[in-house]
Amino acid sequence: MCGIFGIYNHQEASNLVYLGLYALQHRGQESAGIVSSDHRQLHHYRQMGLVSEVFTREILKRLSGRNAIGHVRYSTAGSSELKNAQPFVVDYHRGTLAIAHNGNLTNASLIRSELESRGSIFQSNMDTEVIVHLIARYKEKTLIERTVHALKQVEGAYSLLILTEREMIVARDPFGFRPLVLGQLKGAPVVASETCAFDLIGAKFVREIEPGEILLIDEQGTKSFKPFPQRQRHQCIFEFIYFARPDSFIFNRNVYGVRKSFGAQLAREAPVEVDMVVPIPDSGFPATLGYSAQSKIPLELGMIRNHYIGRTFIEPEQRIRHFGVKIKLNPVKELLKNKRIVTVDDSIVRATTSRKINKMFRNAGAKEIHVRISSPPITHPCFFGIDTPKRSELIASSHEVKEIQKFINASSLNYLSLEGLKKCVKEDAESFCYACFTGDYPLPFQMELE
Ligand code: 5GP
Ligand code: MG
Repeated sequence: MCGIFGIYNHQEASNLVYLGLYALQHRGQESAGIVSSDHRQLHHYRQMGLVSEVFTREILKRLSGRNAIGHVRYSTAGSSELKNAQPFVVDYHRGTLAIAHNGNLTNASLIRSELESRGSIFQSNMDTEVIVHLIARYKEKTLIERTVHALKQVEGAYSLLILTEREMIVARDPFGFRPLVLGQLKGAPVVASETCAFDLIGAKFVREIEPGEILLIDEQGTKSFKPFPQRQRHQCIFEFIYFARPDSFIFNRNVYGVRKSFGAQLAREAPVEVDMVVPIPDSGFPATLGYSAQSKIPLELGMIRNHYIGRTFIEPEQRIRHFGVKIKLNPVKELLKNKRIVTVDDSIVRATTSRKINKMFRNAGAKEIHVRISSPPITHPCFFGIDTPKRSELIASSHEVKEIQKFINASSLNYLSLEGLKKCVKEDAESFCYACFTGDYPLPFQMELE
């Protein structure tokens, strides 16, 4: 879970990266950073916090040059501290190299211990740093050759941007786990995790970066390389369920439309006779619209969100998160009194949120609360960049649906079936990774991760 953005050859490069990151803030709220290049040297600034808090006009002015990349971070590998903030910058014998990475590498610690035994000294505990070390070590003449060599060693998920004094490299792993899109702003190539970043700066969407594709962007223009054997795609289905912004177009689809179809399918699979359908803000909204349209049960905004706080999930401690739900959400009592409701949310992870929410609905007078979830039960952790790292924390890994229903105190509980989910992306259902629902991981990974 991270967002990346880059632009090459534009006079307002770092300002545009700032805006791009602002539009990608939902992909990570822990830290933000920008690295720019003025063709002679790199300038960088990284800090913990939201994009709007981290950067000031003065800082952006110092990030001079026509090329820049940026990153917003939500830690999935490595702890939450400044040394792990990205883009990551290193000096080596050929110059300076900056990298911004979205995804998790699955063999990073193996490579890292090898490198360390040969004398490399790491500055962070990020998986991303191994890529930089590999690129810096290899003897090949050109940056693209060294990058290809390095990427052939790493496994797992990466959508990444590399910036040097004069070049920018864009790469997406052969499975295409994380999204990455290419756009254009008045002739300048732009790259982002999601298209919503293009909309803000007025850039035109050109196409997806293909899985296994590497772009070299320099003064000569843009060259595409495909150095890996072609693989079956494993795009992250959770981007559609929860993570990406609904106004984005990724994996060849508009996220909003897909989410709505999940809700409609859920209504077909798990209908219920109630007075109203209530979305759990905000992630549950699009699926709720689909559920309501399909079931013809009226939609009511029975739970209102305070928009001036961050996502409750940001707080790493259970204790704080419990409190967070109440800070963020409040039911409309007059609407709910003595009503039978069906609520729609996108997913249950630990179930602490649903439990709290249902309690609020009951206190507000709802007499039946039927819960519908627009994804299958999450039973397995993700090793490719979504923050569900520990099996023991996933309620569905150890509890049956009936038990979860009891835990969250719902009148009934239904999840979208895996078949139903696949039906909604049927043209290319085999191009997605469903490992968090099945445990069927597309890649072997080091057990230490688990
Ligand atoms: P739970 O209490 O079950 O752990 O949280 C479920 C809620 O968290 C859902 O409303 C869902 O939208 C949201 N959620 C699901 N996955 C993630 C995630 O990876 N990060 C964040 N911030 N929220 C998530
Ligand atoms: Mg939510």
